[in-house]
Amino acid sequence: MSNKQGTVFVVSGPSGTGKGTIMEEYFKRYPHDNTFLSISATTRSPRPSDIEGVTYYFKTKEEFEDLIANDGLAEWAEFCGNYYGTPKKPVNDMVAEGKNVVLEIEVQGGCSVMEKFDNAVGIFVLPPSFTELKNRLVSRNTETIDVIESRLSRAREEIQEIDKYEYILINDDLDKAVETFRSILIGESQRVIRNKNIIKEVCEIC
Ligand code: ADP
Ligand code: 5GP
Repeated sequence: MSNKQGTVFVVSGPSGTGKGTIMEEYFKRYPHDNTFLSISATTRSPRPSDIEGVTYYFKTKEEFEDLIANDGLAEWAEFCGNYYGTPKKPVNDMVAEGKNVVLEIEVQGGCSVMEKFDNAVGIFVLPPSFTELKNRLVSRNTETIDVIESRLSRAREEIQEIDKYEYILINDDLDKAVETFRSILIGESQRVIRNKNIIKEVCEIC
């Protein structure tokens, strides 16, 4: 089998739109898709549902700044008062091994990844409405109302950048969103540009 580089998928969208929920369900349903989730580093406090090394690597501000200084991050950004960043080595290794990697990250980091990685694919997750977005953030019950307001105002800024992404994914019905997400992954994997080696091999046999 020809070696094929993996693809980086950037999944962004307003906080509370359901990115994490879609990812969790996708990886539960399709553990054998050769697709892996990048685990970010952050300085935000863990939520009760967070697990160190599974949902995030939790860092102090100093530890995070060391990661930046040592060039350990593929990208990083400040989001509503905390640092978030993508550890560089695991992503580079997985791509080189032909694995697809999903980065569930905010827009600033997403845009920088799409510039850095060849043929990275941007998917922007939208809520069915702003009212529903606020309802989801409130009912998730993980942030104070002040933080929710700050995340909603950031959401309005993030949506301004949607043209930098290739796909939208409206998360109204979760089941539909998961299947649409997978359809995007499958469609992208069939692009000529991603299959040059395989095409060459087949053509040599012909
Ligand atoms: P994000 O990762 O984008 O910040 P979450 O995945 O944490 O968002 O989802 C925010 C809240 O919305 C959670 O309480 C989650 O259970 C809920 N949620 C996610 N998707 C849906 C959906 N399709 N319909 C209704 N609620 C949803
Ligand atoms: P949360 O605090 O809700 O887990 O995440 C807040 C925001 O940070 C979300 O938009 C999430 O996608 C984003 N985020 C998570 N990890 C990273 C990362 O590694 N880099 C960047 N730039 N954003 C991230």
